[in-house]
Amino acid sequence: MLREETFSVRTTAREQILIITSDVQRALSSMTKGDGIATIVVPHTTCAISVNENADPDVLEDLTKALRAVVPKVKFAHGEGNSDAHFLSMLIGCSLSWPYRGGKLILGTWQGIYFVELDGPRSRKVTVYVNE
Ligand code: ZN
Repeated sequence: MLREETFSVRTTAREQILIITSDVQRALSSMTKGDGIATIVVPHTTCAISVNENADPDVLEDLTKALRAVVPKVKFAHGEGNSDAHFLSMLIGCSLSWPYRGGKLILGTWQGIYFVELDGPRSRKVTVYVNE
């Protein structure tokens, strides 16, 4: 049976990386104590989700700068003016599949789940799906 739990993320800058591991874990724990693969989805087109280092805050700043730097020098046509955010969202991805055991995410020592805002500040949703 497919179950889901949604929580909100509030961002405060145009580009911002927030570590949401504890929010995802809380949502997962409310649905299962079992083993499986969770799917975590951001139902938006100008943000993304990923996994990376959760130890040194400088990494978040460095990655945010690097994201800005990889946007191609394309003359975008989209009237909303945020095609750079659509482009980065497509590259990084809007979902993640991750294993859990006993209802706990199986993450490496230095890993955290990243919510990547690319066109904030906004209020966003993150949904965790479990199919057990
Ligand atoms: Zn747009």
